Amino acid sequence: MICRKCGTEVTFNEAGLYKKLVNRGATDCLCINCLSEEFRIPVETLYKMIEEYKKAGCTLFA
Ligand SMILES: [Zn+2]
Repeated sequence: MICRKCGTEVTFNEAGLYKKLVNRGATDCLCINCLSEEFRIPVETLYKMIEEYKKAGCTLFA
């Protein structure tokens, strides 16, 4: 997937976080940097969230 804002390649886990935060059925997505700007959440916090969701066994993350 490609970030709809800056055109950067978005990883599976970043796309998963976007879906989790925005809409599970989202067909577009934002990279972690744009997600950080959009939600005013620091990138480090977003990465921590990805880790937590992974640990929780969420299927949107690998
Ligand atoms: Zn972006």
